Amino acid sequence: MIAKPLLQKLAKEHGTPLFIIDHAQLRRNLAEFKRWLPHVQPYYAVKANAHPAIVKTLYEAGASFDVASFPEFKLVHENIKGLPDKARQDFIWDKIIYANPIKAIETLRELDPYKPLVTYDNYEEILKVKKYAPHAGMVLRLKVPNTGAMVELSSKFGANPGDAVNLIEATEKAGLTVEGLSFHVGSQTTNFQNYVQALNMAADIFKEARLRGYKKMKQLDIGGGFPAPYDANVKPLRELAKILNSEIKRLFPKDVAVLAEPGRFLVATACTLVASVIGKADRDNKRCYYINDGVYHTYSGIIFDHCKYPVKAFKRGPTQICAVFGPTCDALDTISLTEELPELNLGDLVYSENIGAYSHASSTNFNGFPPAKVVHINQ
Ligand SMILES: *Cc1c(COP(=O)(O)O)cnc(C)c1O
Repeated sequence: MIAKPLLQKLAKEHGTPLFIIDHAQLRRNLAEFKRWLPHVQPYYAVKANAHPAIVKTLYEAGASFDVASFPEFKLVHENIKGLPDKARQDFIWDKIIYANPIKAIETLRELDPYKPLVTYDNYEEILKVKKYAPHAGMVLRLKVPNTGAMVELSSKFGANPGDAVNLIEATEKAGLTVEGLSFHVGSQTTNFQNYVQALNMAADIFKEARLRGYKKMKQLDIGGGFPAPYDANVKPLRELAKILNSEIKRLFPKDVAVLAEPGRFLVATACTLVASVIGKADRDNKRCYYINDGVYHTYSGIIFDHCKYPVKAFKRGPTQICAVFGPTCDALDTISLTEELPELNLGDLVYSENIGAYSHASSTNFNGFPPAKVVHINQ
């Protein structure tokens, strides 16, 4: 958490809306992940926040990366330049997984020279990869329960577990190699049973595939979903890790390398937004504040991520229930209808913490309002 006087000082210096990235917090989050899951290599899911400085800091702290488009792939690849070429192939797999199960032909053509590790979940994709990226390694994405996750991620992607071994067979018959399995239990998963069920499903498929003669699978990708501590009800990573470590040990052979794709967990708490009050009105007996950032910009997670970001004032004083709106002309641009705020004046600053994931990443230029300016601390 960034000290309030520093937030105010930065806002004064740089103006608002201001998106502040705390690199020390990024490093702490990664260190916490590694501490509790020492045998799981984190591949940061770049889509959560693709700021190049975040990629750089996490790379230097030992993270690998999950990318889902060729521009994201390039963004990460820029950071791993300068390594000896002979290390490159293993190094790519150690550092990047292309975890979008559906890839356009053009994207496959662009990826192929890098011999990437890619996920897939259907027959059509096997033929496409064989034809346009024959040097790719394959990771089969499974459909797993997403019960109770804040953001559901299994309705769009994932092979039915019942089809998995047949898909593995078809992949090998096509002349591609299945390197392992992956899944995603849903973003901000506070129901840890999702992970237990997914691990058990994956273990069954590993076993059945080995029985049917497909013994090359060495990777288990347990995806993202690690919950950020938005409120006190979210159980700490330590508790989830205890379950994961014991299930992985119980269910999988020792030679299986385990990787994960944390997005939110690494960035959510590392960023803070500071905005200014630009308008004030009373409507239907409710105080309404208009601020210079909204759901088309840093607060986009309210729409796309089903997330809530409390808006807080620096000012103290008696509070009332207020509405807080963004600056655009769209009524959808509503940050909150029930925010407890003191009496604020035009120009007063407000802030929202834990706003690093799926926020700035999905900012638009809608209505001519540009995304918040980004500043870095502890870089
Ligand atoms: C979005 C996504 C992630 C990151 O998920 P979090 O819940 O933010 O950890 C990881 N893997 C895949 C395939 C994703 O689509």
